[in-house]
Amino acid sequence: MLTPDSSLTTAFDAVVIGAGPVGLACAIEIQRRGLSVVVVDKGALVNSLIGYPTNMEFFSTPELLEIGGHPFVTANYKPHREEGLDYYQRVARAEQLPLRLYERVLRLDGEPAQYRVVTDKGEIRARYVVVATGFYDVPVKLNVPGEELPHVSHYYKEPYQHAGQRVLVVGAKNSAAKAALALTRAGAQATLVVRGAEVSASVKYWIRPDLLNRIAEGRITAHFQTTVQAIRATEVDLLTPAGPLTVPADYVYALTGYRPDYALLAALGIGTQPDAACTPTYNPDTFETNRPGVYLAGTVCGGLNTSRWFIENGRHHARVIAGHLAGQ
Ligand SMILES: Cc1cc2nc3c(=O)[nH]c(=O)nc-3n(C[C@H](O)[C@H](O)[C@H](O)COP(=O)(O)OP(=O)(O)OC[C@H]3O[C@@H](n4cnc5c(N)ncnc54)[C@H](O)[C@@H]3O)c2cc1C
Repeated sequence: MLTPDSSLTTAFDAVVIGAGPVGLACAIEIQRRGLSVVVVDKGALVNSLIGYPTNMEFFSTPELLEIGGHPFVTANYKPHREEGLDYYQRVARAEQLPLRLYERVLRLDGEPAQYRVVTDKGEIRARYVVVATGFYDVPVKLNVPGEELPHVSHYYKEPYQHAGQRVLVVGAKNSAAKAALALTRAGAQATLVVRGAEVSASVKYWIRPDLLNRIAEGRITAHFQTTVQAIRATEVDLLTPAGPLTVPADYVYALTGYRPDYALLAALGIGTQPDAACTPTYNPDTFETNRPGVYLAGTVCGGLNTSRWFIENGRHHARVIAGHLAGQ
């Protein structure tokens, strides 16, 4: 049984916003220090992983994804999305974490030690707030005409509905590379559009050669130094080094990354640094933000540098934060 918290005005020592791996790790560590905590998520428990591609293989080995010291036992060398979902949801149950799911946090009112987390369903009073809202909810847009058409998506799930279709994939990193390969193997005709001169060097070492070989043998068409100019129902306008080019496309995946929800951070009263990554304002030693008693944890800490913190290293924020707020 999960532990739903249905009260509308309960007071807690701490509210954790975001039921992702890092948010759950924070709640566990806070609860272990004898403080009351509730986790609020606008979606399901471990909502981001629910949105990841079916059967996606983590690049991390299971012990590097563990939280709260719970062993992550898998049959495979690297776990799949479904095993990750099962693991994190089981851990939340085992720890009896109070949860308020499908409840979106809108803003943070009140003063230090007397905060009011305002949601679309009510208000939660708390002394401390931990913001672990990740980065997966706001896609980096192409900002071209046609991007809002129904056959354009920023989230790739699985290839099977595209067998026999012409699919354009925009992007040069792991997600785009994996999608182009899976689509090709499922019988789609994949075209890859890359803004840079090559597939990113950061693509995992077991994926990159596979993709380059499929491009070399002509199974995947790749356009480098190319940008999308406009999307229509059955074709896409590109700008290539050789000039404008229109290619057919029945479906478009714009896998050009994601960014933290800066509007939410502003509504929580958290500032942003004037650096290239627009890093949210926090003390790197304690993770406390410019708002006393309000902490940041996990991927959101990196701002636009969304690969700075991930589960492997972000989960360690939990102990630092719990230790700091328990010591106050
Ligand atoms: C395809 C893919 C594969 C990956 N593989 C790995 C891997 O192998 N190893 C690894 O270490 N990392 C991996 N990562 C990165 C990792 O998944 C993220 O870094 C991780 O999910 C970050 O955890 P988090 O708890 O900080 O944020 P998230 O997991 O993104 O959780 C944030 C939560 O906050 C909630 N939320 C957001 N806004 C609100 C709001 N207003 N109100 C309430 N709730 C809100 C969201 O619904 C979400 O559940 C991968 C990422 C992707 C996309």
